[in-house]
Amino acid sequence: MSFKEKDIAVAAVAEGCRIARRAQADIAASGERVLKGDRSPVTIADLAVQAVITSRLMEAGATISLMAEEDTTPFAAPNGDDVERRAWLLAKGAAPELDQATLRDMLRLGSWAGGEKGRGWVLDPIDGTKGFLRGDQYAIALALLEHGRVRLGIVGCPNLPQRPGDPMSPVGCLFVAERGAGAVQLPVDGGEAVSIRVDDIVDPAAGSFCESVESAHSSHGATAWVAARLGITAPPYRVDGQTKYAIVARGEASVYLRLPTRIGYREKVWDHAAGSLLVEEAGGLVSHVNGDPLDFRAGRTLPNPTGIVVTNAALHDSVLAAIRQEPSGAVG
Ligand code: AMP
Ligand code: MG
Repeated sequence: MSFKEKDIAVAAVAEGCRIARRAQADIAASGERVLKGDRSPVTIADLAVQAVITSRLMEAGATISLMAEEDTTPFAAPNGDDVERRAWLLAKGAAPELDQATLRDMLRLGSWAGGEKGRGWVLDPIDGTKGFLRGDQYAIALALLEHGRVRLGIVGCPNLPQRPGDPMSPVGCLFVAERGAGAVQLPVDGGEAVSIRVDDIVDPAAGSFCESVESAHSSHGATAWVAARLGITAPPYRVDGQTKYAIVARGEASVYLRLPTRIGYREKVWDHAAGSLLVEEAGGLVSHVNGDPLDFRAGRTLPNPTGIVVTNAALHDSVLAAIRQEPSGAVG
């Protein structure tokens, strides 16, 4: 991967963070959203961020494939013309050269099917849209896949305090990991990149864990059982989007558990590609509940439905062993 390609991708995610940040207060206050076919919400910020990041990647000559979460279907809703116009106005604030037809064209480019061959970007423009709508955390996640392996992962967290655990510190972090080259954190608005590492906790009882805010996305009950089994007394750190991967990568929590709430749900590649490389490059481990690695070669979803375990590496085996004893059977 060229330096240029990486710099362009990092700058594009930073730009996406600024667009989302500008829009969040108004969108959260109005509660306005469009529901997709799967009943999940999408906002004009998801669409504007995806269009601008796509156009930056294309402008840079990165005319390779793109797998992205959103597309133009919200424009077919009854108020679709209005949604399209407002998504465009939001995007135009960052990219004045983007006209409305180009925004629509950009949103048509994200249909890459992935697979075990080829090279392509993977984008979740607003990961944790429900957190975004609540006025909480969310992430902008961009990864580069090469032959089914993640080569570069960038996670932007516009609302995350720059100093772990310090709500008074300035917010807005970018996390960047390149395979084999480690992981760093830098401020969204520019500044020095510092290396990050997972925590060094080896006693499970001294660990802490994070999970989804949304109990429909990960079983809070099963996770609480596993935490109790391990003797963990710290309360769960609930946070939206791939912010959870960033939190483990910088040592703010030792474990992130994502345990299935319904049979048959297939995790999406864009919900894990960038974040998983971040944790691995920060010294952690990411696997399914049965210990298998995440498989990004099978298209737009992960084939293994058994849930996802992310740790500081030292705690991985203990966490997997505790999950195997979880009585509900929901986790595999
Ligand atoms: P989180 O912010 O960690 O709760 O994750 C947000 C992501 O959860 C969204 O981008 C969706 O793709 C994904 N999602 C939607 N439904 C489910 C589900 N039933 N189980 C797991 N993840 C889901
Ligand atoms: Mg997502």
